[in-house]
Amino acid sequence: MRICRFERYGRPGIGIMEGEEIWVCDENLQKTEELWYPDEVSMLPPANPTKVVCVGRNYAEHAAELGNEVPKSPLLFLKAPSAIIRSGAAIGIPEQSQQVEHEGELAIIIGKRAKNIGNDEDPLTYVLGYTCLNDVTARDIQRADVQFTRGKSFDTFCPIGPVIETDLDVSDVRVTTTVNGEIRQDGRTSQMVFPIPYLVRYISRQMTLMPGDVIATGTPSGVSKMNPGDVCEVTVEGIGTLRNPVK
Ligand code: MG
Repeated sequence: MRICRFERYGRPGIGIMEGEEIWVCDENLQKTEELWYPDEVSMLPPANPTKVVCVGRNYAEHAAELGNEVPKSPLLFLKAPSAIIRSGAAIGIPEQSQQVEHEGELAIIIGKRAKNIGNDEDPLTYVLGYTCLNDVTARDIQRADVQFTRGKSFDTFCPIGPVIETDLDVSDVRVTTTVNGEIRQDGRTSQMVFPIPYLVRYISRQMTLMPGDVIATGTPSGVSKMNPGDVCEVTVEGIGTLRNPVK
């Protein structure tokens, strides 16, 4: 199932995408009789989280390219939800930074409240599905501040979408990022230092995860600078492509 969020006449809705058809859903993700087509609605980011939890240095080659060691336990930081934009919306380069970079990632969308997931529980039962995310980063500010908050949370620095795919085994899918059609990042989720079930359980023991919350699972090697006029695309095999111009 492919879940999207949209707005029509100023009212948000949730839909299931089947080809070009958007079937409107109720809060329990059950289809109603109402049907729209993409040109009849404004698409929204597919999730509206209380928080975006990010995992840093979760691919060994990416940790190495920035001169860092692989952490012994997941390195977590938060991105402000106000940074979220949909596929198609523009990433803005803030005047405070000279080096804004893409980080293409697989994102987990939480389906039900998760707190202290037990060792005997399957963490994936708390997951609604997966989407693409660009963990846009002002690298110069991240380095200068040490804390990640400012460099990661400028408005427009969290493109997510286009849809949430609920039926996908993400243990070994390809994650690619292109700038103007040229491949810059090309990894597989099987290369993660801490795999997805481990991350969901671990994070649930640090903070309560709420329905709709987003976990960005880290980026493969190949991060590079984006400039105004560029178009950045993050593609996760089996989900689709998140496409954002840069302004
Ligand atoms: Mg990242």
